[in-house]
Amino acid sequence: MALENSHEKILNISIVGGGLVGSLEALYLARRGHNVTLYEYREDIRKTPHVRGRSINLALSVRGRRALRDIGLEDIMVKEHGIPMRSRMIHRPDGTTYSIPYDARTNQCIYSVGRNYLNSVLLKESENYKNVQRHFNHKLIDTNLPNGELTFMQTDTKDRVSVKADLIIGADGAFSTVRRAMLKQPLFDFSQQYIEHGYMELCIPPGKDGGVSN
Ligand SMILES: Cc1cc2nc3c(=O)[nH]c(=O)nc-3n(C[C@H](O)[C@H](O)[C@H](O)COP(=O)(O)OP(=O)(O)OC[C@H]3O[C@@H](n4cnc5c(N)ncnc54)[C@H](O)[C@@H]3O)c2cc1C
Repeated sequence: MALENSHEKILNISIVGGGLVGSLEALYLARRGHNVTLYEYREDIRKTPHVRGRSINLALSVRGRRALRDIGLEDIMVKEHGIPMRSRMIHRPDGTTYSIPYDARTNQCIYSVGRNYLNSVLLKESENYKNVQRHFNHKLIDTNLPNGELTFMQTDTKDRVSVKADLIIGADGAFSTVRRAMLKQPLFDFSQQYIEHGYMELCIPPGKDGGVSN
């Protein structure tokens, strides 16, 4: 595949983590002609009926749509699958409700999309690129970042696999093993701040008339 910028050197790139960021990044880098290998700890999400903790839908706004548009996946995610969300419903303790529109002026909205579905669409799309390889059940356990080396444990066989890359991208989520390894590098700086709120997932079935149940 030709590089978009012909002066760019083709790199062998290892992406750790095949979640939303890793699988999206793989597509962008593959389009630029690089050889991309994606390593994901879990099994292929497309073969898993339900992944705990990842069931919550994502709200896709203009930034997410832009990222999908550039790789030709906006329509499938937004027009075919997305549920428009025009306002936020506030439930008062006394049971009354009121809604706050996301965009009262021009009536734009955000779209609710299934997280697993989005991840599956991105992984499936990566199969259209010969220069993307996917390895599931590969958990990063060790690194030698200055040498570009990564060691994975295959979670099904417990075998170890070591690979070398020109560029390593850590897309392994909130408790990133790549970031932990980077912390040991000289002059690497990092800060983390937790918000004071938590999330709770509520499943409210529709009432008999299709409206909100009591
Ligand atoms: C409750 C909740 C609601 C959210 N709602 C929204 C929303 O509405 N809209 C929005 O835009 N964002 C939302 N976010 C944020 C969004 O989910 C994250 O920004 C996004 O998932 C980050 O993607 P990621 O690929 O970096 O990480 P992840 O999706 O966590 O993917 C990381 C991947 O790396 C893999 N991995 C981890 N460790 C290793 C290892 N050692 N070796 C190999 N692979 C590894 C994991 O298995 C995983 O597949 C929400 C987040 C939460 C928690």
